[in-house]
Amino acid sequence: MRTLLVDRARFPRQKLCGGCLAPAGMQVLDRLGITQHLPRLDSLRLESLRIIARGVSHDLPIMPYFAVERASLDQAVCEAAIARGAEFRDGVAAKVLPDDTVRLEHDGQSETLKPSVIVVADGVGGSALSERAEFAPRVRKQSVIGVGSLLPSRPAHAQHNAITMVCARGGYVGTAPSGDGRWSLAAALDPAAVRCDGPIDTLRRIFAASDLQPPEFAKGQLRGVGNLTRHRTPAAGRVLVVGDAAAYFQPLTGEGMSWAMACAEQIWPHAQAAARGEDPAKQWQAACARILRTRHAMCRAVCTLAAHPARCGWVLGAGRTTPAMGWLSRRLCWSPA
Ligand SMILES: Cc1cc2nc3c(=O)[nH]c(=O)nc-3n(C[C@H](O)[C@H](O)[C@H](O)COP(=O)(O)OP(=O)(O)OC[C@H]3O[C@@H](n4cnc5c(N)ncnc54)[C@H](O)[C@@H]3O)c2cc1C
Repeated sequence: MRTLLVDRARFPRQKLCGGCLAPAGMQVLDRLGITQHLPRLDSLRLESLRIIARGVSHDLPIMPYFAVERASLDQAVCEAAIARGAEFRDGVAAKVLPDDTVRLEHDGQSETLKPSVIVVADGVGGSALSERAEFAPRVRKQSVIGVGSLLPSRPAHAQHNAITMVCARGGYVGTAPSGDGRWSLAAALDPAAVRCDGPIDTLRRIFAASDLQPPEFAKGQLRGVGNLTRHRTPAAGRVLVVGDAAAYFQPLTGEGMSWAMACAEQIWPHAQAAARGEDPAKQWQAACARILRTRHAMCRAVCTLAAHPARCGWVLGAGRTTPAMGWLSRRLCWSPA
């Protein structure tokens, strides 16, 4: 198929993300030949998870995750698409209209295309489907709010080659090297706490609950996305939806990128079916569910535990002396089958 890839942002662009890539996501990039274009990956293996709750710290072994810098990763993915024949235009916003045409807007101009299949991967904050009522997202109003920032240097509580999570009432904060010398901080915050205290004070409270010094945030440095947990119909007519645009849970497990890539890798037969005029909705939904069902269940379980720091501390404390805890923490990582 002739493929046109558009993004409303100018590339390379930053995306709010912790930048920890799960082993299964790394395997997709390997299969697509993209890893070789990413700088210094081997030096950025993250081999343990440090969890701090109520001032007590636990180090758990994990299957190696990789610290990736999102601007470079996403640029490398676009370059791989171009090398395989796609045309890429950045700074172009797309809108899928009710008659399955696509309006592209850039520099005050607009044009309309009628593609044989449309894949929407416009993330949590995307607007490409705003004129299609059947794709209205179902958002869990009480779900956490995501905030994050890139820090210029390592925060005092964080460890090299590890993902560090600080859990408390009000949310949890993860820190990891970002792959370019800076550090990513990503947090999932209780919306009630944010409404009451604002994001920065909520973050400060989370650190204070473990007697930790919070990083200093410059004005405007902290960026946020709204309620994270949402899902929508993943296909209708000639439109297929993938990645965060289709469904999103909390970022705690650092798997959102890998979920998006693992599903995208399977989209080809469904895109072909849509282009032939068949309705791919059921099969596409089933294919994504097959890939993600157990990961979503695991993510829900881990997030529930993290939301209760006392219970989390108890489980970690009880498991500290048993080798089974290390086995479990490795098994919870999403590794290649
Ligand atoms: C705070 C936080 C921390 C996270 N940490 C991690 C982590 O450590 N590891 C991990 O794996 N995942 C993490 N995630 C999740 C991860 O960032 C996402 O799951 C992943 O980026 C999903 O990719 P995507 O392609 O679906 O969407 P995105 O990466 O959001 O890309 C969507 C693109 O669509 C473009 N767009 C939007 N609207 C339009 C339009 N109308 N027309 C054209 N283009 C449009 C945007 O410019 C953007 O470039 C985190 C998320 C948050 C919020």
